Amino acid sequence: MEDRASAPAAPAAARPVGGAATLADARAQLAAAVELLGYDRGTYELLAAPRREVTVSIPLRRDDGSVEVLTGHRVQHNYSRGPGKGGVRFSPQVDLDEVRALAMWMTWKCALLDVPYGGAKGGVRIDPRQCSTAELERVTRRFTSEISPLIGPTQDVPAPDVGTDEQTMAWMMDTYSVGAGHTVLGVVTGKPVALGGSLGRASATSRGVVHVALAALGHLGLDPRRSTAAVQGFGKVGRGTARFLAEAGVAVRAVSDQDGAVAALDGAGGPGLDVAALEAHVDATGSVAGFRGGVRVTGEELLAADVDLLVPAAVEGVLHEGNAADVRARLVVEGANGPTTAAADALLAERGVLVVPDILANAGGVIVSYFEWVQANQAYWWSEDEVESRLADRMTSAWDQVLAQSQRHGVDLRAAATSLAVQRVTEAHVLRGLYP
Ligand code: NAD
Repeated sequence: MEDRASAPAAPAAARPVGGAATLADARAQLAAAVELLGYDRGTYELLAAPRREVTVSIPLRRDDGSVEVLTGHRVQHNYSRGPGKGGVRFSPQVDLDEVRALAMWMTWKCALLDVPYGGAKGGVRIDPRQCSTAELERVTRRFTSEISPLIGPTQDVPAPDVGTDEQTMAWMMDTYSVGAGHTVLGVVTGKPVALGGSLGRASATSRGVVHVALAALGHLGLDPRRSTAAVQGFGKVGRGTARFLAEAGVAVRAVSDQDGAVAALDGAGGPGLDVAALEAHVDATGSVAGFRGGVRVTGEELLAADVDLLVPAAVEGVLHEGNAADVRARLVVEGANGPTTAAADALLAERGVLVVPDILANAGGVIVSYFEWVQANQAYWWSEDEVESRLADRMTSAWDQVLAQSQRHGVDLRAAATSLAVQRVTEAHVLRGLYP
């Protein structure tokens, strides 16, 4: 670890877009952490590239009998500290670079929260909203079968992500188990409770987001009961985040999903949206759009809402150089992975907006995934209270550690969190040594 790392190669003249841009941002964060820690260029290179990745073709027989060939990926960024861990995403935007970036962030997240995993991620380029349940089952089973040599309770443990859910995990577990000849509960997490899932897993990511959001509001001297929030995305992460924020007394003033955005009708000091009524509307219609208890706004208006707290909980790259200057929130808590581009990070920092990075803010899911894996491997199940209180302890302790690192080095929370994680992964590498 002698020579200081130089920053990674400057981006090519044409700015990367899509997954390539996300990966460039992830690598720039790694380079900054390596530089802060005084590690060498070799360490950067070791951690910038995935250890293993596979791309598979997935022939899908549609319900009408036609056949379409889809592309899927599984990337294992690093497994020095334990099996790979990371979600499987079904989305039309999936590409290999995006999956590489998401896998790298999983490595940092697991190391930061000190769960004994490396980082991995998977994805299939498909729009799940254009598929029947039977088609989704066929895609899931074929994808699982294609990647099954790489996954397993001691190798790599997938979980739900954008466009997948506990039913997807049940199919993955079944497909893998059929191949193994016996039931292997520990191969995936985020399973239904009736099938070896953990109590508290479904809400874990959003609970974790809210634990950290409340700690960050407190750090800024803001009382949750007098604070306001906007949440982008109303899926597995955003919906629970809105609910738990409202339960903590925060007025949720705007929410959105890919079909639209709604804002509260009441004045600035009012209680905000009725989140329970909004959830009932989403259960009935599939979207927040058209909710009569609010007024329709645009997605960009939601990001620029006059609130204390903004939680992007949808997809990556939504806060960028074109809109970061419009953000009026004092605090951004990243429910999604990679919602803030590097350019937006710099603009927000300039304006004094505190950004709690994804690898800390949304780590609740992987913490309870770890609890689920431990329970499955031991065939001994914990109560919901045990899960919730252990989750809260780990989130709060990680927040304290990241804040202390940020103050120690005079860096923002992202650099603090990434450097703590990179330090732990590098330590594991050094102790293991290079083979041969
Ligand atoms: P999901 O598929 O359940 O929900 C995604 C939501 O985002 C949907 O409401 C969708 O309509 C909305 N959306 C998509 N594009 C949008 C846009 N441009 N504007 C507004 N809304 C948009 O996915 P999820 O599991 O909630 O994941 C959301 C994010 O959180 C992703 O970045 C994911 O990687 C991350 N994450 C998820 C978990 C988890 O446990 N599910 C854990 C950690 C991180």
